[in-house]
Amino acid sequence: MLEHDPNCLFCKIVAGQIPSKPVYQDEEFYAFHDIHPSAPVHFLIIPKRHIPSMAQVTDAHAGLLGRLMVLAPKLALQLGCNPYPAGGFRLLCNTGAEGGQEVHHLHIHVMGGPRPWLRG
Ligand code: 5GP
Ligand code: ZN
Repeated sequence: MLEHDPNCLFCKIVAGQIPSKPVYQDEEFYAFHDIHPSAPVHFLIIPKRHIPSMAQVTDAHAGLLGRLMVLAPKLALQLGCNPYPAGGFRLLCNTGAEGGQEVHHLHIHVMGGPRPWLRG
């Protein structure tokens, strides 16, 4: 699997070739606001290296995926999601065409804030 796919939208965002509104970054991850938010808080967290989807993950990705899931609640609170249990957030990871995935670079949606939301 390529580290970066020159034709991938999110690889271009990581490289700064396409502008985005940053939320957070470290060596492994980049988080940025979704261009079409469907909740008051709606951002995406992506690994900087190109992994097409959850369908391609292997045992070698266990550490990365663990760190991703630990990062999500921290960023959710920082970005204005209200505290659990009255608040909270939704994590969504669309995978493949039937899973509703449009951009084929692994990402999780983090959505939160007061309802109603646009979708769901
Ligand atoms: P998927 O359906 O693949 O899970 O979600 C892709 C998400 O990426 C969508 O929510 C869409 O709004 C967002 N998105 C698509 N293109 C761009 C872009 O160029 N910039 C940003 N910030 N978000 C994008
Ligand atoms: Zn990519």
